[in-house]
Amino acid sequence: MAKISQRTIDEIYASMKIEEVVGDFVSLKRQGSGYVGICPFHDDRNPSMHVTPRLGIYKCFVCDAKGNAINFLMEHEKITYPEALEYLAKKYSITIEYERPETDVEREQRTERESLYLVNEFAEKFFIDQLHNTEEGQLMGMSYFKERGFKDSTIEQFHLGYCPEAWDTFTKEALRQGYQEDFLLKLGLTHKTANGKLYDFYRGRVIFPIHNVSGKVIGFGGRVLKKDEKTAKYYNSPENEIYHKRETLYDIYLAKKAIRAADNIYLVEGYTDVISMFESGIENVVASSGTSLTEEQIHILSRQSKNITVLYDGDRAGIKASLRGIDLLLNKGMNVKVCLLPDGEDPDSFAKKHRDSELKEYLEQNTTDFLLFKAQILSEEAGHDPVKRAAMVSDMLKSIAGIQDNIVRAFYVKECSRLFNLPEETLNNELRRVVWANMRSAKGSSSSTPAETSQAVDPFPHITITSPKQETTHDNKLYESEKNLLLLLLQHGCYEIYIEQDGEKQPVRIDQYICDELFNDQITLKSPVLARTFDSYVKSAELLKDQNAIQRALLMSEDEEVRNFVMENLPTEIPKVSANWKERFEILVSSTHDNVMLLQQEVQNVLLNLKLRIVEETISYIESQLKQPDLEEADTELLLGYMCELLQTRKTISTLLNRTAS
Ligand code: ATP
Ligand code: MN
Repeated sequence: MAKISQRTIDEIYASMKIEEVVGDFVSLKRQGSGYVGICPFHDDRNPSMHVTPRLGIYKCFVCDAKGNAINFLMEHEKITYPEALEYLAKKYSITIEYERPETDVEREQRTERESLYLVNEFAEKFFIDQLHNTEEGQLMGMSYFKERGFKDSTIEQFHLGYCPEAWDTFTKEALRQGYQEDFLLKLGLTHKTANGKLYDFYRGRVIFPIHNVSGKVIGFGGRVLKKDEKTAKYYNSPENEIYHKRETLYDIYLAKKAIRAADNIYLVEGYTDVISMFESGIENVVASSGTSLTEEQIHILSRQSKNITVLYDGDRAGIKASLRGIDLLLNKGMNVKVCLLPDGEDPDSFAKKHRDSELKEYLEQNTTDFLLFKAQILSEEAGHDPVKRAAMVSDMLKSIAGIQDNIVRAFYVKECSRLFNLPEETLNNELRRVVWANMRSAKGSSSSTPAETSQAVDPFPHITITSPKQETTHDNKLYESEKNLLLLLLQHGCYEIYIEQDGEKQPVRIDQYICDELFNDQITLKSPVLARTFDSYVKSAELLKDQNAIQRALLMSEDEEVRNFVMENLPTEIPKVSANWKERFEILVSSTHDNVMLLQQEVQNVLLNLKLRIVEETISYIESQLKQPDLEEADTELLLGYMCELLQTRKTISTLLNRTAS
């Protein structure tokens, strides 16, 4: 999709009124110069949410939800930033302008997509009509659904249908109504024989329409009626402009509401598993449709809830194979649980055999933590083979490394230590290595390995010359620069900024970025205390992903000087309510976008300043060397060469600094 133009974004920002946007979802009451309402982000009866038109923000004093109108929409509607912009544009009748005018090709593609949706919509209606209003539909399709025990209401809610047995009933009608053959073929609704005859792909099958998150029909599954058919049990839509298997989750549209209410997703395999669970009163259920989960599917799910319970069929065959897909869920910050059904049952058969209450009870009692489940399976499988056990440990640590919450991680380390009979210490050391390696590799090329750096152009060629100066006489300016860098890390190291890479802005954690920059330029901090604090920071950051946790860890450092430095330099925890507080609050929440920009500038400034100091220090060191009386000519030349480079570098940095300072 084309990017929304800055002008449109500005217009939206200028037009959006927080009280109107929040007011669409929450009933607000006037209070003073603002409004209050019941916070939709946690369970509450009291109006804890404050809406402040002057600042354009909402803030809940209980659950700490806060932000501007866009944040509210993204959080409340679980939509993306561009979707929130679109919502607001519609609300305020702003015409969306794109970064550049749509090209002819793009316009064509868009209208083609729109046409494809229309054809699918027609097909869905046609199949529904056939099921309900024709004799064949009743005799064949409806009786099949009835045999499976589907209720009328379910058949309607899922828009189930039937495609007649005859050669081309659907295709003929579609063409008669003016739908293009091309589109019918593209959508896989119609196929063509070798000698050019068109026929209905789904003929003689019951139809399960597949919808996207916003409820549009993107494809179909068609099931044969008889068990012993030689053809595939299910036919599915082919990939096309509107049907992407990797992004498709069966029932996501209907389940969305229930998922958000329960804040949990049940993941099953098939269409009928979904429908049977739904009929048993469990509506927060979606199917991956026979494939292992993809990143795209996880992305869609994680916007609805972070909690997922994977339902496994009773036979254990597929379990091991699917473990990896589930690791992906963990890496995306989902909390994953699993529930194993009794031998030989799938969710469909189990739900059919049990009362609603029994199903619920079974799910509640048999849902276990995914990682412990995995550890057990791996451990059983590895037996006493040391090589297999080592592989199992590293497999488990990779899973654990994906978990965001450090307390949860510590819990798993403990459990694994017990299960695998290994000291926690050993596991923790290994884990630290994995986490840091992930961090370095996850965020793309800013994190280069040593081998890569040695080939990279080094903008600071000889900076590693050790300075003759001692700590006691340290250059105050250099110390200040190093200190600023540490303060930045301590306060905002875990935050993400956007760094241009391969012409694209990539999110990178500040601490990772800084580490990489220092590493690439072979910069080490000169002040011993600061260097040790930096080291401690990096060690904590490898394990902890939360700023407060890192601060706490450093405050408990065994190194007294490190502890003192952090204690003296951390800003006081909670700003006291004072005149000054309001200002700070305003700065913090007024616009997330602005904050990222400010932080980004700050990071660049701090790094550039430090580099500048180092270059200056080196320059004055070389100056002093040049003044030595007994200097050999060759050395003089060498030193002068260094000097030139350094002066050039200094100029470059100064220019950059002036640019960011403005
Ligand atoms: P039923 O209960 O009607 O046999 P199901 O939904 O339980 O169907 P499974 O055999 O468990 O089907 O398969 C799970 C999912 O995998 C199906 O819902 C379908 O999306 C997909 N699938 C199964 N068989 C096929 C096939 N032959 N071709 C394409 N997809 C299939
Ligand atoms: Mn089944």
